[in-house]
Amino acid sequence: MLLQEEREQVVDFSLRMLHDDLTVGTSGNISVRRDELVAITPSGVDYRALTPGSICVVDLDGEVVDGAMRPSTEIPMHTTVYREYEVGAVVHTHPLYTSTLSVVCDELPAVHYMVASLGGPVPVVPYATYGTPELAANSVAGLADGHTAVILQNHGATTVGDTLADAYTRSEYLEWMCRMYYQARLYGTPNILPDDEVARVVERLRSYGQR
Ligand code: 13P
Ligand code: ZN
Repeated sequence: MLLQEEREQVVDFSLRMLHDDLTVGTSGNISVRRDELVAITPSGVDYRALTPGSICVVDLDGEVVDGAMRPSTEIPMHTTVYREYEVGAVVHTHPLYTSTLSVVCDELPAVHYMVASLGGPVPVVPYATYGTPELAANSVAGLADGHTAVILQNHGATTVGDTLADAYTRSEYLEWMCRMYYQARLYGTPNILPDDEVARVVERLRSYGQR
């Protein structure tokens, strides 16, 4: 089977995304790139019913190369990100606290130093209809300058990484920090870390977890 390993990973992480409450129903989509091909979730399918065979393989223009099901409607977002940036995986989610922030705020500010793992404060990019080239363009713009996460207004979030595990962990951190920010604002006015501290942590994290 073409891209068997990547398809298996997509199934595993799709189930995690559902169980970790990073999305709801059939919302969200996940892809992994290998060379000029991308393994991506099918559109509108119950994650619990996925098998490696139901994952679609498309080229970087979004043309189906293998798989019987219709690929995610967010193909333009995934393929545009891969054409623009050197990343190996894209995770698009609809998590509750991140989506809540997306309808009110312009960004997730530096409420915690781990915002540095997302390239700094996370921008909320303007709303565009799901699945459109406009949403793809807005997402790619939000991922400029080393950002590895972007929040989509009135919609959800997209994270990227060298590996699917990296991209997925960033989605978890993003939702955790949006929740933390929400709760902090209930207590009062949160302290926000200054830009130079975020820049310092960005540098420090380059060797984090490596021996
Ligand atoms: P798909 O089911 O087509 O992947 O769409 C879900 C989604 O989140 C659209 O933004
Ligand atoms: Zn979506």
